[in-house]
Amino acid sequence: PKTLRLILGDQLNSKHSWFDESNLDVTYLLLEMRQETEYVAHHIQKVIGFFLAMRNFASQLESDGHQVCYFSLDDPENEQDLEKMIVKLVSERGYDQFEYQLPDEYRLDQQLKDICAKLSVPSRSVDTEHFLTERGFLKDFFSGKKTYLMETFYRQMRKDFDILMEGSEPVEGKWNFDAENRSALKDKRLLRKPKLHPKSVKELLEMIEKAGVKTIGTIDSESFHWPTSRAESLEVLDHFCENLLVHFGDYQDALTTWDPFLFHSRLSFAMNSKMLSPLEVVKKVEAYWKENQSEISISQVEGFIRQIIGWREYMRGIYWAKMPDFAEMNFFGHDRKLPEWFWTGKTKMKCLSHSITQSLEQAYAHHIQRLMVTGNFMLLAGIDPDEIDQWYLGIYIDAIEWVEITNTRGMSQFADGGIVGTKPYVSSANYIKKQGNYCSHCAYDPGKKTGEGACPFNSLYWHFYDRNRDKLEKNPRIGMAYRTLDKMKSKEEILEQAEKYLKEIEKL
Ligand code: FAD
Ligand code: SF4
Repeated sequence: PKTLRLILGDQLNSKHSWFDESNLDVTYLLLEMRQETEYVAHHIQKVIGFFLAMRNFASQLESDGHQVCYFSLDDPENEQDLEKMIVKLVSERGYDQFEYQLPDEYRLDQQLKDICAKLSVPSRSVDTEHFLTERGFLKDFFSGKKTYLMETFYRQMRKDFDILMEGSEPVEGKWNFDAENRSALKDKRLLRKPKLHPKSVKELLEMIEKAGVKTIGTIDSESFHWPTSRAESLEVLDHFCENLLVHFGDYQDALTTWDPFLFHSRLSFAMNSKMLSPLEVVKKVEAYWKENQSEISISQVEGFIRQIIGWREYMRGIYWAKMPDFAEMNFFGHDRKLPEWFWTGKTKMKCLSHSITQSLEQAYAHHIQRLMVTGNFMLLAGIDPDEIDQWYLGIYIDAIEWVEITNTRGMSQFADGGIVGTKPYVSSANYIKKQGNYCSHCAYDPGKKTGEGACPFNSLYWHFYDRNRDKLEKNPRIGMAYRTLDKMKSKEEILEQAEKYLKEIEKL
């Protein structure tokens, strides 16, 4: 039968069993659509990254002998909408059946179900063959449990996929080496150059601009550097193993103005678009470590592998267990507008100006910048989680809702009331100061809670606890903070300082 198979922009898995053999009755459909450029204002590098990766993927399929139907954004025949395109192609080109890979986004999952219900031909969905587990695995795994502990899930993945195991025991006798992964970077000379793939994207950029797509952030159109093919992605992975893994764990939480990428892998876009599979990434890293154990300690490797088969896989399971309700959650009832300077980086707070400016320029920030700088401030200031989601979903090259919203509403904002995390990730200036050099370049004083030049994080931190007492005081991991707050002589003064900062938040 003549078959139309849809490939979404984040389904660029060349190892999928669909492609095991070429069949001239099967056509693969890829679409650049306004529907996808419009649901949030994306970073320009994200739009370019996806379109370029899709184009490379389509060319590869064609050269492997598959039939491909590709619609660029400026194609006059492009209806810019998934339903219109599928319905039109099926009827005009006489397909007997329609097939798609299960999308990772709830929005697209619903849309595709609706489309299939309306189609005049039979349809079928298949797995993406990307993740370690099926969509519903985590929900079943924790069935009947109130909390979904990441660590429990992670250990199961280690066992099921035999990663860093010696028989039924974890290698070197411990499952988790997180406590060893918390250093600030003190020596610039340790830094390594990232593996970039600079290329000109001038024509693609012109097409996007001409179409009037609203984007955020900046781009150097002569040297767009993200990997946009499987071959490039594999080079980034090799570079990580050979140059960065050795210090990954040590400096995973470091905050510095010296370098945007540090020892991070820059693999999130390659994995989220499925050019690389999570299992191949961790297997390669494990194998590299085994050959180089004298130079690379287990804490570096375990820390990295946990992020992928632990956190990444876990977040995806949470998403399917809790959507669509998750997208509405607002445990603290926060409703403040996001300050305008989140879109420009223009604030006197160095940690924020640096992390935001870097995000606008690179479409990238590492985990601790997202969690303990921008996310921390947003939570302390009580920003509306809907506005926060729009920001994180737009600004990062790796931002796709299943992994963005679980990290943002869940891990970072505790808007889920404690599904993903056991307590909110908040801190005063103390943490940011300890992790790097932001504070030494700042207009504010990290040592001051009140008065002229006091760091806003210090008073907002206590304001957050004070205003959410009814929701947090009973949490056994937090009670201590309230005892400290209640003993403080300057408590009223600190809360007043926070109120003052919140009133003039646009000017901070
Ligand atoms: P590395 O530090 O090299 O880590 C390796 C890989 O581990 C990453 O590529 C990623 O695939 C995975 N990983 C690490 N931490 C997490 C995590 N918490 N959840 C899921 N996977 C993880 N990640 C996204 O891929 N897309 C997002 O939209 C996204 N939004 C986030 C929003 C907030 C508020 C926070 C706190 C985190 C978010 N993350 C997101 C997780 C993490 O920050 C990024 O995956 C990471 O910074 C990507 O850079 P890297 O590839 O260099 O990561
Ligand atoms: Fe950020 Fe406060 Fe440090 Fe300034 S002093 S960099 S605002 S934590």
